[in-house]
Amino acid sequence: MVDKLVNSEANARRIGLVEGCFGSAGQPLIVPGRVLVGEGVLTKACRKKPKPRQFFLFNDLLVYGNIIINKKKYNKQHIIPLEEVKLKSLEDEAQFKNGWLICTRGKSFAVYAATATEKQEWMAHINKCIDDLLKKSGKKASAEHAAVWIPDSEANTCMHCKKVQFTLVNRRHHCRKCGVVVCNGCSARRVLLPAQSSKPLRVCNSCFDEFSKSSNNANFSSNEAKATDSSGEEDSDDDESNGNIQDAKAPSFYGAKEEEPEQI
Ligand SMILES: [Zn+2]
Ligand SMILES: [Zn+2]
Repeated sequence: MVDKLVNSEANARRIGLVEGCFGSAGQPLIVPGRVLVGEGVLTKACRKKPKPRQFFLFNDLLVYGNIIINKKKYNKQHIIPLEEVKLKSLEDEAQFKNGWLICTRGKSFAVYAATATEKQEWMAHINKCIDDLLKKSGKKASAEHAAVWIPDSEANTCMHCKKVQFTLVNRRHHCRKCGVVVCNGCSARRVLLPAQSSKPLRVCNSCFDEFSKSSNNANFSSNEAKATDSSGEEDSDDDESNGNIQDAKAPSFYGAKEEEPEQI
């Protein structure tokens, strides 16, 4: 069904619209062979709290951004090549339902759909695109994925020493290897994690010990943290914008039938 859309005018027009919604700060998205498979709003777990984000599934990319005006304006575009994506379904928890993990080499995070059916649709479509892509390229699914960051709200004390209480002064830090929330003292070391950055990144003491044990691992640097380190602690899309969703409607997936889904 995706193949039918490749050269369709409707597909070209939809991709053009997406590109337009991101404006000049976004990447060009119109590329020969690219198909917009579906789009919709998902709630993304961020460092501070979950936030609505607009997601676009292409046959080769997953793109998401903050919602300024629904269907009109998005910013903070993130582009994830599907080749390196792996999904993992999450069990429902009290207020976090219909979720799954989107794991990639550089970044991994949880998203939540409005209903179980939407979750199934999203996961099935994303997985189908990944399968098709890997089949076409003959590549293997990437085995290495970044840790999912534990949200700040889940840790009031350091998860490593279990002593230091977080305050305005004792800030929370995240281990880039395992994702736990730790104090500065328990994450003073840096390790090179090439999938995430060309610079050495903060890791917790446990992860550092593991790195140093594997003797043939040249990827660790025992540099103590520079006094002013705050490198990359920001979750790049975890700003205060909560998005502007008045009409949270079900996601649209294209090409199941030849007819256009209605636009608003
Ligand atoms: Zn600690
Ligand atoms: Zn760690």
